[in-house]
Amino acid sequence: NSSLHEFDPDVAAAIDAELHRQQSTLEMIASENFAPVAVLEAQGSVLTNKYAEGYPGRRYYGGCEHVDVIEQIAIDRIKALFGAEAANVQPHSGAQANAAAMFALLKPGDTIMGLNLAHGGHLTHGMKINFSGKLYNVVPYHVDEQTGQVDMDDVERLAKEHRPKLIVAGWSAYPRQLDFAAFRRVADEVGAYLMVDMAHFAGLVAAGLHPSPVPHAHVVTTTTHKTLGGPRGGVILSTAELAKKINSAVFPGQQGGPLEHVIAAKAVAFKMAASEEFTERQQRTLDGARILAERLVQADVTEVGVSVLSGGTDVHLVLVDLRNSELDGQQAEDRLHEVGITVNRNAIPNDPRPPMITSGLRIGTPALATRGFQTEDFREVADIIAEALKPSYDAQTLRERVTALATKHPLYSTL
Ligand code: PLP
Repeated sequence: NSSLHEFDPDVAAAIDAELHRQQSTLEMIASENFAPVAVLEAQGSVLTNKYAEGYPGRRYYGGCEHVDVIEQIAIDRIKALFGAEAANVQPHSGAQANAAAMFALLKPGDTIMGLNLAHGGHLTHGMKINFSGKLYNVVPYHVDEQTGQVDMDDVERLAKEHRPKLIVAGWSAYPRQLDFAAFRRVADEVGAYLMVDMAHFAGLVAAGLHPSPVPHAHVVTTTTHKTLGGPRGGVILSTAELAKKINSAVFPGQQGGPLEHVIAAKAVAFKMAASEEFTERQQRTLDGARILAERLVQADVTEVGVSVLSGGTDVHLVLVDLRNSELDGQQAEDRLHEVGITVNRNAIPNDPRPPMITSGLRIGTPALATRGFQTEDFREVADIIAEALKPSYDAQTLRERVTALATKHPLYSTL
């Protein structure tokens, strides 16, 4: 019964170092966030000990009376949050949620359409060596080179030509909103299911600041740890008609015992996502991304070849285009790391550089908004990034400005 620090000082020290990294740098990876302490507490609870194969009221193990309560709370809360008819809160991750949803709706060899990975799609939307690319016949759609946005005429043309069984609408790196009604029209025209993967923008939808895919899609998948701000995990929302198929695809189709400690943490996050404080935070997330995009299209940075894909953003992230910059994606990521800002390099459509290098950066604001950043703080962050991407940058001064912001908005001060 010794504590982690007593029993395993090696692991404890690395966790402490990671806490310090999160506290002292600016986290701008678009898919990351800071889970509230209440979420960490639920996830670190004794629920990790419990087997609970099955669903509330229909388990294959004894002693599930308390986890039943927890899982049902999570289901009820997320259904209410998004106005969904049915919810499965058991997927261990976003990738598992997508695998289960596809497993429920498709047979191996069926045709699916998804946004090309290099154009902002996710691995699970049909990448060649992902399960989705191996099991299904993938027809990718693309963003238009001029506008940087998904071209619905292209989607419709491909759908009519290839008659997919499933169309996936969703993205990991795309700075605009998709037209879910248009996707549904195309899906209906060719007799396909529409699955929306809202992993990235679920928090914005929950706050009513982004159109909801739920009224349009047969199935909506999400992660719970990105804009939604909860523990790492996945969820599948569906129509009541598809609920049984989805449930049996998750368990026993894809997974064994559910992670009830994570499901408890999801329930806590869903409660938070229904609060006014959460809506206000999502608004600051959007404002921060817009401020960053506006800063990165100003003359002093375009002069050095830095610009913004699609010319701006409607969501929580900005895609920086470095095709005309001397910096490639890797160098720009390293440059920001040097001044204390964490981002990830990202391939951009028709990227001339290889995937491990890339010509883009994906920069997101959810984690800083959670930390309490206001408009003026995001202006300062945007300015630091703009300065850091210039050849004449002064690393030490920029690092000091980052430290000042991190100090102004303390993180996890009770841990
Ligand atoms: N779907 C989208 C759109 C994503 O961006 C991601 C993660 O980056 C996932 C699914 C997969 O989530 P996970 O990493 O939890 O498997």
